[in-house]
Amino acid sequence: MTVRNGATHLFIPGPTNVPEAVRRAMNVPMQDHRAPDFPDLTLPLFEDLKRVLGLSNGRVFLYPGSGTAAWESAITNTLNRGDKVLMSRFGQFSHLWVDMAERLGLDVVCVDVEWGKGVPVADYEYLLTKEPDIKAVFACHNETATGVTSDIAAVRRAMDNANSDALLYVDGVSSIASIDFQQEAWGVDLAVTGSQKGLMLPAGLAVLGVSDKALEASKTATMPRCYFDFVDMIKTNDVGYFPYTPPVPLLHGLRASLDLLFAEGLPRVFERHHRLAEGVRRGVHALGLELRARGLEWYSDTVTAIDVPEHVDGVEVCRIGYDRYRTSFGGGLTKVAGKVFRIGHLGDLNEVSCLAALAAAEMSLADAGADIELGAGVAAAQEYYRKVNAGIATAT
Ligand code: PLP
Repeated sequence: MTVRNGATHLFIPGPTNVPEAVRRAMNVPMQDHRAPDFPDLTLPLFEDLKRVLGLSNGRVFLYPGSGTAAWESAITNTLNRGDKVLMSRFGQFSHLWVDMAERLGLDVVCVDVEWGKGVPVADYEYLLTKEPDIKAVFACHNETATGVTSDIAAVRRAMDNANSDALLYVDGVSSIASIDFQQEAWGVDLAVTGSQKGLMLPAGLAVLGVSDKALEASKTATMPRCYFDFVDMIKTNDVGYFPYTPPVPLLHGLRASLDLLFAEGLPRVFERHHRLAEGVRRGVHALGLELRARGLEWYSDTVTAIDVPEHVDGVEVCRIGYDRYRTSFGGGLTKVAGKVFRIGHLGDLNEVSCLAALAAAEMSLADAGADIELGAGVAAAQEYYRKVNAGIATAT
């Protein structure tokens, strides 16, 4: 057995670190999920998730599954085979959602965008005006593969400008509960996330926020579905149960994670993510490296994808981080494999966590052959965190 001392360090953009209080809350004996008092646990969870999503009407569905399950539920419950839908592809996750839509038989109008930019709002407005038969608009709020956040309010404005009556589907898997998300204010009809990111839980719960308009659409949508059917969910959820066996420990964990989020206050959670992310970005820039996000307007507060210098292999950076420094970074996926590595900074973390990530990144980069000045990134982030925390600088 290899003995490895000290903690491991998880800086992948999900699953994220699970707070101790959440871990303890999940350590429960198995329980009767049809017991008369089970709704005492579940009903407040549905309501509190709506608060996280910024949804006062509509409803939230919780499926045993990952974010991908919520993608599929959103599509199959509300659309028909052959429906024309508008999507964009600028990273591995937006790519996979397009792939799912095509495989489920939708007629996808897809705008391909450079990996490093986000939802092409002007193109959306143009296409929606030109093709009024588009039934659904899809947007990936935070593309985890490239560290790019898109402006969902602007997508809604583009739809309104084009007089589009389409439903708006948003992937908030790596944004919800970490970056400001306003489902109702932005007119999002279907908002998707999973438990293992901002909600600080293990993977296993797919979360889907659904507007009243989308619920209405589901009544006539004909795409085949069974496990995900809103009808079965509504019938049982309304009285606090599920149509099948729910992952009870995860529900207890969710209670604890929501309590933590509300105790901190959602605006402060978002502000913390912004502050921590900004420190990481300053650290990366101080090392003379570039972000994959091609411009300030795309910077993500939950994940930073860093372009490695030309002669350096991003895969090596991650391997060295893992093998020598017990630190996991996100690797580059498909199109950007080897070209980027990613620091996930969402969920349960603070300034010192991010400094540790930068320190391990510097060592891994240097060991992989990058010509960087050790300590420069950490120092830039330290400076920033100190000033912001002392009120000398604002977190901009
Ligand atoms: N969408 C985004 C933006 C993601 O980051 C991920 C996973 O990382 C997914 C969708 C897929 O979610 P899951 O792996 O929970 O199925």
